[in-house]
Amino acid sequence: MKALKINGLSKSYSNSEVLNGVTLSVDQGEMYALMGPNGSGKSTLASIIACTNTPTSGTVEVFGFDVVKEAKKVKKIIGYVPQEKFLHPLLTGEENLLYFIRLLGTPKQEALRMTVELLEKMDLLKDAKKRVSKYSGGMRKKLEVATALLPGVKLLILDEPTTGLDPSTRKKFLTKLEEIRKEGVTIFYVTHIGEDAEIASKVGIIDEGKIIIEERPEILKKKTGLFNIINIETSIRNESVDRALKNTITDGKLLKTNNGYKFFCKEPDEIIDVMIRNLGNIGCRTTRIETTVPSLEDVYFKLTEKNLRRC
Ligand code: ADP
Ligand code: MG
Repeated sequence: MKALKINGLSKSYSNSEVLNGVTLSVDQGEMYALMGPNGSGKSTLASIIACTNTPTSGTVEVFGFDVVKEAKKVKKIIGYVPQEKFLHPLLTGEENLLYFIRLLGTPKQEALRMTVELLEKMDLLKDAKKRVSKYSGGMRKKLEVATALLPGVKLLILDEPTTGLDPSTRKKFLTKLEEIRKEGVTIFYVTHIGEDAEIASKVGIIDEGKIIIEERPEILKKKTGLFNIINIETSIRNESVDRALKNTITDGKLLKTNNGYKFFCKEPDEIIDVMIRNLGNIGCRTTRIETTVPSLEDVYFKLTEKNLRRC
């Protein structure tokens, strides 16, 4: 059975269509990352799965239960961490967690026991008595996940879980998510940060309200034919610079990024010298040039010709 099955899901607000026939599926035990830039409808999708929003058309099933017709059953097996902050800053970590557990009608002693267990699982036991206003970004995120990891939860839905975390905290947090997955919880998360999706077992890419591809990260990179990438920044950016760079390239496409240009190729070393020379001939300096191996952000860019992180 699929943990999540979405078929032809569309959602419009007033007259604007945000989701336009999303179809995707997530196997049990998977860590699925849905990747797309801001405004691409990720939060809308997450909130529909979490039964806090409704589809205009199409179906969404969580472990076989329909999110509209069987919302009560779905709510029992999902944990949802929305994009917006929802913890109470003046309560301690323990009090926040206890509050969410008690909301379910759990008797006090049992709720206390569950609180301790969850705090321990998320490495927050020693900070349990601190007010959340004193928590770091990473601690807050872990506490938010704890509120969603109540007993019986089989699918965890996380909306932009690493926003605001520094790179090392982000890594630790993602490792924590992997641990949760290993314990048997299926994870579906949405992100506009390519690095977040690198650890996913499967990545879905959303563009223009549709999933354009879903694959394992390494396969996705191969499928898009990405070998090496040349990133270039130049002292000037205009049409003659575009032309000079294009003239260097015999195959493939030159793409404009927020800061410069990007070119996907097999043999970067052969091209770099010619590129710098061509630019020099029109009085343009190369301020930065580097080759990298493809990231998922590059995959997104290659497939959609859009920046994942919009400026
Ligand atoms: P993402 O999470 O990918 O940034 P969202 O789902 O938040 O995307 O938003 C997608 C689009 O839908 C945006 O243009 C946003 O302004 C619009 N939108 C989101 N929620 C609402 C709402 N409740 N009412 C009207 N428009 C909305
Ligand atoms: Mg969002």
